Amino acid sequence: MDIERKILLNPGPATTTDSVKLAQIVPDICPREKDFADLMQGIREDLVKIVHGDLEKYTSVLFCGSGTIAMDVCLNSLLPADKKILIINNGAYSSRAVEICNYYNLPYINLEFEIDALPDLNKIEKTLSENKDIAFVYTTHNETGSGILNPIRKIGELAHKYHTFFVVDTTSTYAMRPINMEEDNIDFCMASAQKGLMAMTGISYVIGNRSIIEQSKEFPKRSYYCNLYMQYEYFEKHGEMHFTPPVQTVYALKQALSEYFKEGEKEKWNRHTRVFEAIHKGLEELGFKDIIKREWQAGLVVTVKYPDDSNWDFNAVHDYCYEHGFTIYPGKIGNQHTFRLCALGAIDADDIEKFFQVMRECLCKLHVKIPVNYNEV
Ligand SMILES: *Cc1c(COP(=O)(O)O)cnc(C)c1O
Repeated sequence: MDIERKILLNPGPATTTDSVKLAQIVPDICPREKDFADLMQGIREDLVKIVHGDLEKYTSVLFCGSGTIAMDVCLNSLLPADKKILIINNGAYSSRAVEICNYYNLPYINLEFEIDALPDLNKIEKTLSENKDIAFVYTTHNETGSGILNPIRKIGELAHKYHTFFVVDTTSTYAMRPINMEEDNIDFCMASAQKGLMAMTGISYVIGNRSIIEQSKEFPKRSYYCNLYMQYEYFEKHGEMHFTPPVQTVYALKQALSEYFKEGEKEKWNRHTRVFEAIHKGLEELGFKDIIKREWQAGLVVTVKYPDDSNWDFNAVHDYCYEHGFTIYPGKIGNQHTFRLCALGAIDADDIEKFFQVMRECLCKLHVKIPVNYNEV
């Protein structure tokens, strides 16, 4: 089968290998069969191994849905009665966590920082010391909206110092940037198959501390389909999801995991870094500016400012690139006009070089001045 290769520079779903795409074509199977439960069991263990978790202490729980389902599950399932969540918020995805809390009426403190700044650890510590009713601290590892990398190890250390646990949205770092549950002070993290693992959309997972999940059996139940303990218990008893899993997507995930281990954690991260650097090089050659300090960027998402040029037209650039096989993505930060280029997926530096040839052609066609112009200094 010949499948046209498309380069996705959006922040997920990622470009996948053909072997992952084709892994979905399997004989029909009822997911209640033991063969399928065995497949699920292996996947659950592999997901914990990627973040170097001890399988006795940590487990993974899978859900059928996009990445937001894992945020929803953690927030609604892990809060005991009469306790609060402390959200460390410097971007769009932590703001989404705040929205989820609002939908469930969960008590929280929204500790906000500028989108282009790292959170202030002193303020986090002060908030923890003044609020003894915080059950857990929640933040986002790589704020995909801007590309900033948050200092999770230090935030987790503070969370633990004040006897709270630490939940991190690692959706846009997991299986890309190396993560270690223990060393990074993480009690719960999460991701979805279509990002770092370069598998298909439709399956997401929470990786977390088994004993806290077991304690959560007694916590208030706020959702039926999205309850962490309920899904965990079913997996432990029956080896499968409580309700119908996305069968073919699970086969793609299995294939993606085997390709992940074959490429290796370090090699894969090196490849993403090559892609990231190629993105920066291409942008610099055209004169584009990004918004997050380079040393604070997570190495996966670059947020680029629109140039000040009356011929610049993001939609026209998008459409031209799309017609030539490259997908670029709008920005996600307040009122600034930005677009994003991301280093996710089964791509390498040569794909980025080809992309910038197309981008240059497009700017010429639109009569956008090169190097691109910015009015401010
Ligand atoms: C992609 C992403 C999610 C999930 O988004 P979906 O659209 O539900 O897949 C959550 N958190 C972060 C940080 C992400 O990058």
